[in-house]
Amino acid sequence: MKQQLLIASLIVWLANAQAPKQNDNHDLGYKDTPVLPGLSWHVHDPDRPHPPVVTPAAVPGGPPSDAVVLFDGKDLSLWQSRKLGNLGPAAWKLGNGYFEVVRGTGDLLTKEKFGDIQLHIEWSSPNPPTSTSQGRGNSGVFLMARYEVQVLDPWNNPTYADGQAGAIYGQWPPLANPGRKPGEWNVYDIVFQAPRMDGDKLLKPAFLTLLFNGVLVQNHKEVMGPTVHRQVAHYVAQPSEDSLVLQDHNNPVRYRNIWVRRLRDYDEPERK
Ligand code: MG
Repeated sequence: MKQQLLIASLIVWLANAQAPKQNDNHDLGYKDTPVLPGLSWHVHDPDRPHPPVVTPAAVPGGPPSDAVVLFDGKDLSLWQSRKLGNLGPAAWKLGNGYFEVVRGTGDLLTKEKFGDIQLHIEWSSPNPPTSTSQGRGNSGVFLMARYEVQVLDPWNNPTYADGQAGAIYGQWPPLANPGRKPGEWNVYDIVFQAPRMDGDKLLKPAFLTLLFNGVLVQNHKEVMGPTVHRQVAHYVAQPSEDSLVLQDHNNPVRYRNIWVRRLRDYDEPERK
């Protein structure tokens, strides 16, 4: 009996001696490293959540696998029109792979609501152009139905700097004007971080980054508040998510290839 016990103990000892100690296998990270300031993770922590795998689009500008495709050229089923506060079926005109503002029908809103997003959207100004300044090719991309990135004919169209294409309207002019001629397609790639609010108390403002035809024109800019005309913006209570809105400013601006990706900061507690 004693001999059997001794042999069993020997087998266990041998097995343990041969198995790598947990701390010796650093292939997938370390637990014996310092904790990162303000976080609960060690440097190279193997338990830190891994980001999801995303399959990129087959062509540049196309939607990656985790995108919500809001317009793929075929229909406006994910949108609705809002005129004088009333919601109804999308009233803008569908063309061959694009849609166009129908003046006087009101703004176009997504049925789905969003907070932090990456947005890809393409637009073109009416050709031939008519009118001048803010009357020429005016529309707009409103994040969370409140924060306007200006859409305006960018070609030989003098206007105030904080109202030109690529401006955070009334707040920040774009860093450059890489806009194309009327009738040609422009691309906005926007990264938007929604403000953090506690009722009407601002905890953290919104931030916006914009690439305009691949050129950085808004570099993580702090947004002053919801867009206003001829006034200084300030934050008021708002929901944590709201519709993406395209502006009817009485100009037949065209849009195509619109998709968004919901963004999640894995080091921030999930927002309700
Ligand atoms: Mg506008």
